[in-house]
Amino acid sequence: MTDRGFDLDARLRERERAGLRRHLDPAESVGARTRFSSDPRGGAPDYGDERFVFASNNYLGLASDRRVLQAAENAARAVGTGAGASRLVTGDTGLHRALERDIADCKGCERALLFSSGYAANVGTIEALGPDVVFSDELNHASIVDGCRVGAAETVVYDHADPDDLRAKLAQRAAGSLDDGSDEEWLVVTDSVFSMEGDVAPLDAICDAAEAFGAWVMVDEAHATGLFGDGGGVVQREGLADRVDVQLGTCSKALASQGGYVAGDEALVEHLLNAARSFVFSTGLAPPAVGAARESLRIARETDRAERLWDIVATLREGLASMGYEVLGETQILPVLVGDREAALELGERLAEAGIVAPAIRPPTVPEGTARIRVAPMATHTDEEVARCLDAFESAGREVGLL
Ligand code: PMP
Repeated sequence: MTDRGFDLDARLRERERAGLRRHLDPAESVGARTRFSSDPRGGAPDYGDERFVFASNNYLGLASDRRVLQAAENAARAVGTGAGASRLVTGDTGLHRALERDIADCKGCERALLFSSGYAANVGTIEALGPDVVFSDELNHASIVDGCRVGAAETVVYDHADPDDLRAKLAQRAAGSLDDGSDEEWLVVTDSVFSMEGDVAPLDAICDAAEAFGAWVMVDEAHATGLFGDGGGVVQREGLADRVDVQLGTCSKALASQGGYVAGDEALVEHLLNAARSFVFSTGLAPPAVGAARESLRIARETDRAERLWDIVATLREGLASMGYEVLGETQILPVLVGDREAALELGERLAEAGIVAPAIRPPTVPEGTARIRVAPMATHTDEEVARCLDAFESAGREVGLL
């Protein structure tokens, strides 16, 4: 009989052969904690079995903050652990609207709209805008790439963080339009902080290029919200709110929660809540997540918590560089470039043995030959933990022969 089923074992073997098989490893079950105890995978007698996490997007360490925990509990008690339905049916609450107002306020926008994740926000927004052409940075997040696919947009990829290449590609596409192309709708989209490079997009120059061709600009602030521009992100820091048409991000990183958002003008939000399928056909964000994100945003904006993170970042950046490591980026994300994927894996293993959780990032997540350790500290790390992290990099780097 013909077999029309799926041979998943064969596909998994193929991944294994290509070195692309991933696993959920209980030894990496960390959650958004700064430190935890578990059986070490060997070695590390000095540090006992305590492990220190230098690879989390819980940048401000707010996921375990008692005020944030309390806000999550209050939200659950007030309106339930789940929203119970799509926002457009019965899942809407005053809490969702309050967080949307706070986000709109910190982004300098008229309105904001919550999605169930940053991923859903990107896919739903690009699909609902339905651009004729998207101009997308080559290192944009996968959810932007998927939004372009779902929206079936013609996608033009420009060189990473390169406004000159963007401008050239805009011009090339304009010259190639059948008529004058003026009835087309174009979208330029970029991350503000790039998650694997730790660098910042040149937003001002990107806006200049987009404006010259009448295109809209969309910026994903997933790794910037809560940290830059009084919590509003890089767009706020650089005073670009009225030049960026779509500001987008997630509550799952510095805001220590879950859920995506889009901020912009009234028409944008009204359009999305009608047309973004990942909004319309998905249950409203869980109230505890909304409550937690709202409290985290308040703390991020009203306290100097981020200052502690910047101090830690400076210590790590200087320390790693002085050992001879090449550290990329200019933000709280510190990619330590190794190059060879096996060497990066080995460095990650040795760090783990020394109690530091900072796994290797390999191709295809990053380009071939640029395997790295992505170090991402939290504002809650102690000075001693930061020193341990540096010690571990020094000894592990020597053992692996990188230093
Ligand atoms: N955009 C960027 C730049 C991201 O790094 C991420 C998360 N890795 C997302 C969007 C997706 O956000 P979420 O985790 O909330 O789905």
